[in-house]
Amino acid sequence: MRKEAPGNTKRVLLLGGTGDALAIARALPPAHVYSLAGLGRVPGDLACTVRVGGFGGIDGLVRYLRAENIALVVDATHPYAAQMSRHAHDACTLADVPLWAVRRPAWQPQPGDDWRDAAGWREIVDRIAPFHRPLFTLGREALGHLHEIPASQYWTVRCLEAHAGNERAKVIDARGPFHLEGERALFGAAGIDVIVSKNSGGRATEAKLAVARERGLPVVMLTRPSLPDADTMFDDAASARDALLNWLDRIHLSET
Ligand code: NAP
Repeated sequence: MRKEAPGNTKRVLLLGGTGDALAIARALPPAHVYSLAGLGRVPGDLACTVRVGGFGGIDGLVRYLRAENIALVVDATHPYAAQMSRHAHDACTLADVPLWAVRRPAWQPQPGDDWRDAAGWREIVDRIAPFHRPLFTLGREALGHLHEIPASQYWTVRCLEAHAGNERAKVIDARGPFHLEGERALFGAAGIDVIVSKNSGGRATEAKLAVARERGLPVVMLTRPSLPDADTMFDDAASARDALLNWLDRIHLSET
């Protein structure tokens, strides 16, 4: 729903789609904009404006920044949404708009972990070949490969999409956070013998790694994409939100 920005108010564009971004969006007053790709749930209870869908590449984003009087962009997209982060970086440079970014630190292996890197889908298939009951927690990527499942495997795919699965795969439509007990139950019930994961970082989805450690299971970890720098970078949503509230106070004072 569109809310009108008063006069020439300098506005914030928050790029989201993650729990971190939503936590920041909850602190944004009405004149400012929370932007989503449109892949997941669109929150209906925010004070700020919510817009959904792409901008039309870098040029489209530059036009948007100028037309909407955006004075600050905050990139709080998922660590694997590298295209959006690159577009934000390039568009902010072209439009001379400062860019902040929440760059969630990657998970680090702990003693007892057996992590195996994979740079892309082909490497994932190779790494899981010796196993029979993989759990995919990559998002919807695995759904496009359900027809390729070898006869020796049965997949459990957890993602934010309702899907019937097939005779060789069960799709679980579930949104985190996920907790230890629930993960233990899932691993036991589905007989999981390997996990396929993004290295998303953060607390919401890390319990599966602890359960893999407990059970001595390997984790095939999709390599993180490299992301561009930003003018200011934050490790977590809370510090970005606090800095943003300070920035909004300063802007408000300079505009009154
Ligand atoms: P992407 O590949 O970086 O972005 C693809 C295009 O989607 C962008 O170029 C942009 O279109 C549009 N877009 C992305 N985020 C947007 C936003 N916040 N507001 C407006 N438009 C946006 O990212 P992705 O396709 O969203 O996801 C890539 C990976 O990240 C996947 O592996 C996915 O599972 C993971 N991921 C994404 C989200 C999410 O909500 N985006 C959440 C969790 C995980 P234009 O070029 O037209 O502007």
